[in-house]
Amino acid sequence: MRETIAYHGAVDPGSIVQEYPPPPMHVMQLSRISEDEAAARTLGRLRRVLDRAAQLPFYSERWAAVGFEPADLRELDQLSALPTFTVHDLRESIDANPPFGLHQSRVGGPHRVLFSGGTTGSPRPVLHSARDREIGEIIQARHLWAAGIGADDVVMNSFGYGPHNAASTMHEALYRWIGALVLPVSTGNVTSSRLQVTMAHQFRATAWIGMSDYLVHLANVARDLGLDPATDFALQTLVVGGDAALASAAWCGVPAYNLYGTYELQTPGGECWARGGVHFSDDAHIVQVRHEETGEPQPDGARGQLIFTSLYNEAFPIVRFNTLDRSALLPVEQCPCGQSSRKIAGFLGRSDTMVKLRGINIYPEDVGRIATEHPGANGEYLCVASRTPGGDDLTLHVELADAVPADEEVIVRWLRERLGVRITVEIERPGALASQTGLGVRTKPVRFRDDRT
Ligand SMILES: [Zn+2]
Repeated sequence: MRETIAYHGAVDPGSIVQEYPPPPMHVMQLSRISEDEAAARTLGRLRRVLDRAAQLPFYSERWAAVGFEPADLRELDQLSALPTFTVHDLRESIDANPPFGLHQSRVGGPHRVLFSGGTTGSPRPVLHSARDREIGEIIQARHLWAAGIGADDVVMNSFGYGPHNAASTMHEALYRWIGALVLPVSTGNVTSSRLQVTMAHQFRATAWIGMSDYLVHLANVARDLGLDPATDFALQTLVVGGDAALASAAWCGVPAYNLYGTYELQTPGGECWARGGVHFSDDAHIVQVRHEETGEPQPDGARGQLIFTSLYNEAFPIVRFNTLDRSALLPVEQCPCGQSSRKIAGFLGRSDTMVKLRGINIYPEDVGRIATEHPGANGEYLCVASRTPGGDDLTLHVELADAVPADEEVIVRWLRERLGVRITVEIERPGALASQTGLGVRTKPVRFRDDRT
């Protein structure tokens, strides 16, 4: 007989709800607690996360290097002295110890694994225990609720269902913790845009969630079908990845809100209907902003890199994750939406070279690595990021190899297939890029130019 583990026996929803109240209970429960109580709660949760993290070589080795042990933790300020890590460290950990790396492991009970959306290199797996998942969804549900979504809503979910996190975490939060009816349509590859528009119309959908540029496209499809986005739909709320203002304008002023999330963190932040920043859940995450060069903690209002510590994750405990996203902490104040939690200024760009193409994270270095692999190319390349009304765009310039007669079209097609995402590929003559990359002049040739700012 094979052993089984039933999900419902592995999680204790009663205690989870008490620890991390779902919406709207969280508004009352979290605002009632004093600053001292909140600090004690945070310290207790942080200790548990540190104890768990210390079991993983990814953390124990880094901490040993700075002489830290979890038992040393006396006050929250000590957290700032611990080393940070980035997605590049996670990739290294996975490459050296596939398939999960040394920063995560199963902790008993059923787990979910979801993957980063990187189209170059291997997608990064992220392990979630049942408890991790439930709490992450409660946090997600708080943001969706604060954006105005409730049990009466009929929600079109046009995020891509599949190995990535966005669609499923939204779906679960809406279904399990808000009670909304979700139409799991996914992207246009799964349910055609015409059918999505027809369904939103027929089912009187009141909310639509998805990537901003796709929601803009859907509004245009609606017009093509003879439907007026202003009057023929029951939409009241849009929750989008990307440019919320564009989606709102396309749907004739239906309010659109941004969430903040990463593959590792799920969705720790979200805009509420009162706007004025992105809320976080102080009972679930410690959010710090540090100076990009000095690493010093930044005062309220000053920009820097967003550093996250999760207070609940156990399969992959997250301690001082440098998202490389830029933002600023906003002064603590009571928000008209009722939530008392901390806000940040929202996403103010990347502190490294990552380009978001239609919601997918692209690293120019990875694009370049692929560009150098084709025998018809000589290894010289330049990635140029630019900004268009629809979002970021990336152009890859590739030099041809002298010796190999090459069919340019074949190389372009090969690169596009390997990259797995639509980017512009420009084939260049040998040596044509040298003046831009500084090849032979600079110690390190310029491989990436950012024309977005
Ligand atoms: Zn608010």
